[in-house]
This record gives sequence, structure tokens and C-alpha cells, in this order.
Amino acid sequence: MAKFNAFGKEKGWIELICGPMFAGKSEELLRRLKRLEYADVSYIVFKPIVDTRSKKEIKSRDGRSSYAIEFEHPYQILDYVKKNIVLPQVVAIDEAQFADTSIVDVCEALADSGVIVYVAALDRDFKNEPFMVTAKISCYAEHITKLSAVCTECGAPGTISLRLINGMPAHFDSPVVQIGNQESYTVRCRHHHKVPGKVYDLPIKEFKTSYKKSIKK
Ligand SMILES: [Zn+2]
Repeated sequence: MAKFNAFGKEKGWIELICGPMFAGKSEELLRRLKRLEYADVSYIVFKPIVDTRSKKEIKSRDGRSSYAIEFEHPYQILDYVKKNIVLPQVVAIDEAQFADTSIVDVCEALADSGVIVYVAALDRDFKNEPFMVTAKISCYAEHITKLSAVCTECGAPGTISLRLINGMPAHFDSPVVQIGNQESYTVRCRHHHKVPGKVYDLPIKEFKTSYKKSIKK
């Protein structure tokens, strides 16, 4: 009978690190990579190109960094990995939410082939809508670390990124990715996250409105 071991002798699995901005996802990814260096484990880091001005590195807010290969299409990860005679033991992907959804199949193919895959990704956008890439990877991942930040309004776990334009919460119709604009981000808990212009189905809207009224009484 096989001994119980969450990550048995068979190599190859997916570890997802997800959460909002300011939760330390890149820090956690870099921490895991640093551990590999001590053990002489080979790894390659990738990230999608979202901004032509971006540097070929992943960076944590506390100043640590690692070289990262940028890709336009996720299949380029497979092309790059194939060039190596020996497969890397670990492939890390940062900012995976910005990649094409085919990254899910790429992660699966790597894990099935014996590679340990670390994926760091935002789970939801500023509208509180899931990033489909992250949602799908969470279905396939063997291990999920969901990090939270701190709500800048009340100090509760901050789980949703809030986009501010001129200091005000961004409207629902503003585009998800807008590089180079005068905007800022913060993080809020579910009770302090606002999305002006977000439309809910009537039963949801009515319930939320009437329940708020009833607890005030
Ligand atoms: Zn709050």
C-alpha cells in the first residue's frame, strides 16, 4: 500500500499563490524560489508581457527580484523549456492573470511531464470579477495559497483590489488593464470595496438593499 504523502515521490504538480494586490504574492513566489537555490534545484521564471516598458524581472515590494523571461503567448514557455536538454525541476510564472487562458493547458502539460509549477496571480480584478485564468488554474492546482492584504479602511483582511482614478473608485466600465494612466490602487475588504456602476440582478439588489435597511432598525 502506498504511504500517505500529499506530494509523493512522483514529481510534477501545480502550486497557486493568489490574492489581491499588496498581499505579498511576488514575495511568496521569490521566497519559494530562494529555497530552491539553497538546494540546487533548477528553475526558470516566466511572466507575460503586459507593458513594453517592463523589465525582465519579477520584483517584490520589499525590493527582492529575480530574472524572468517574458512571453507573449503561453506556448512560448513550452518552446523555451524544450530547448533545455534536461527539463527544469521548477517553472515559475508570475502575473499569470494577464496571460492567455491557454496558460492553463501549459501548466497542466508541465506538471504532467514532471515539472513543479509555481503560479502567482491576482484572483479578482478591481470590479471584484474573477480572472478566468486564475479561476481555472485553481481547479487544477494541487496546492493553493490564498493571501490577503489589509483593508485600508478598517484593517480587516483586504481581499479585493480597488482602483482609484483621481482618488475615487473607478467606474465599472473602465478597462481592466490600463497602463501608464494617472491611477492608483489600494485594497479593501468586501464591506469597503466599491464599484460604481456595477449592475446586479434585481433579486440580489433587492435583497442587499432591504437587508441593509432591516439591520439599521
Ligand atoms: Zn474594510
